[in-house]
Amino acid sequence: MTKKKRYTKSELNKIKKAIMERMDQVVFEMGEIKDGISDTGPTNTSLSPDSIYSLHMADAGTDSHEREKNYLLMTRENSYYRNLEMALERLEQEDFGVCQICGDLIPYERILEVPNTTKCVDCKTKEKLNLI
Ligand SMILES: [Zn+2]
Repeated sequence: MTKKKRYTKSELNKIKKAIMERMDQVVFEMGEIKDGISDTGPTNTSLSPDSIYSLHMADAGTDSHEREKNYLLMTRENSYYRNLEMALERLEQEDFGVCQICGDLIPYERILEVPNTTKCVDCKTKEKLNLI
């Protein structure tokens, strides 16, 4: 009988640390994006006062576009953060990181990439192709 694969406690701690580092990073990135949303100052500071008006007008269009892009980015970072949070909670369960289909261990690089994953790459691919 083969022993069911599990992450060891020290491995889980390593994952936990990595997840928390990612969360810090996401918080930092969200701060950067927020700064980008509120900071509408010109990027080119060497412009003469004459060009400020036209620059402002040009910026107005870019701003709303940038804002939209930043909003999408924020939404994405937010859901990634939530997934990391959920992964952190699931980490307390002893079958964390085990593929629900084949029972193999999901590499923790993948867990960090797709924190809400419960399947390994192989199974996920097969599932997509309707092979399971
Ligand atoms: Zn699998």
